[in-house]
Amino acid sequence: MLKFVIIGAGIGGLTAAIALRQRGIDAQVFEKTPTLHDVGAGIALWPNAVKVLRKLGLDEHLAAISLTNVDGAIRRSTGYYLARTLAAELQRRFGGGMVILHRRDLLEVLAGTVGHDNIHFDHALSNLSVSENVATFANGFAVKADAFIGADGLHSVVRSQLGHTDQPVYSGYTAWRAVVSFPRSGFVPAETWGRGKRFGAFPVQGDRVYWFATCNATAGERNPPDGAQAHLLSLFKGWHEPIEALIRAADDACILRNDIYDRDPSPTWGQGRVTLLGDAAHPMTPNLGQGACQAIEDAWQLAACLSTQSDVAAALNSYETRRIKRTTPILLSSRRIGAFAQLENSLLCTLRDTAVRLTPDSVTYRSLESVIGYDATTASTSLH
Ligand SMILES: Cc1cc2nc3c(=O)[nH]c(=O)nc-3n(C[C@H](O)[C@H](O)[C@H](O)COP(=O)(O)OP(=O)(O)OC[C@H]3O[C@@H](n4cnc5c(N)ncnc54)[C@H](O)[C@@H]3O)c2cc1C
Repeated sequence: MLKFVIIGAGIGGLTAAIALRQRGIDAQVFEKTPTLHDVGAGIALWPNAVKVLRKLGLDEHLAAISLTNVDGAIRRSTGYYLARTLAAELQRRFGGGMVILHRRDLLEVLAGTVGHDNIHFDHALSNLSVSENVATFANGFAVKADAFIGADGLHSVVRSQLGHTDQPVYSGYTAWRAVVSFPRSGFVPAETWGRGKRFGAFPVQGDRVYWFATCNATAGERNPPDGAQAHLLSLFKGWHEPIEALIRAADDACILRNDIYDRDPSPTWGQGRVTLLGDAAHPMTPNLGQGACQAIEDAWQLAACLSTQSDVAAALNSYETRRIKRTTPILLSSRRIGAFAQLENSLLCTLRDTAVRLTPDSVTYRSLESVIGYDATTASTSLH
């Protein structure tokens, strides 16, 4: 039986372990944190990712932890609707709508499916010898395997061990996130665009709402001394309801802040029997809600390539070829949408909002087709 070592127990690494194990590969996951790395935020999964999770047999688990078929909208700070995406239309066109979950719930379902005996916490990769096929961890443990998958996120150690020297690219904006207790009745999920800042809020199961906020900022900037909540209340003062109430519902301790980065697309990812997956391979800004969705697609297609090619290095190579082709335009498009949505100049913002308002719904849905209408589970077989 082939033995694969996956570095990183995030959404990408755990989904890859499930996909590989289901195809008879002994996939073992090594994670640097002592428990699942729950960032305490929500996440949106689109039909392209949900199709993969369903094929992996996670349909019932997913239904139990998520809110499915959520409508979406883009609004102005006054509350005026610029555009809407209706769940029913997404369902009709793409076989499903947007699914919102708490990341912790998703990670727990994935980890439970991998099997806790196959996840090794407190193992921070420190060295990977590509020629010897050996990974060494900070705690002194070393493991030999037939192949290694670097699913260790934006600042991937596997990536740097492979000799990549490119640095993450700062988007020019920072993001705050929280999940708060909040009544869902009458709640309208939407992203609201202002000048150089945005606020988005989506319901999660239970009477909870996941919200995020963005603002143009220099990299590494910290919250002012009076804290994140006070800062956000001043940034979003006077925006439509219930934005201020949602910010008030979160105390400083539960508001996360991350600067938003991606990387320029890489022409190659791995070497021999080592490859990359998810954010380690193609970190993207969250503007299309596709970072985790693409990691999930990666996982399926990695396993599919391995099941049709007996030479491991050749299978990893064909996985990379198809995934670089798929993820590069999504990464670049997400970057462009971020720059558009974070415009600050008032004339440009007026032009932007007018363009969004005048775009026919049919054009919006068509523009989503290649991203969320994609089925990785059939694309992988038809390419052989
Ligand atoms: C504000 C924001 C909102 C987002 N919203 C969405 C969304 O709605 N939908 C969506 O699809 N995507 C979204 N994303 C993107 C998504 O979060 C990422 O693309 C996704 O989590 C990547 O998963 P991953 O498993 O590749 O990496 P990660 O989630 O980063 O997991 C990497 C894992 O590797 C571990 N690790 C790191 N280094 C080592 C080491 N040396 N040894 C061992 N383990 C290590 C880490 O602890 C971690 O557990 C968003 C991102 C941000 C910042």
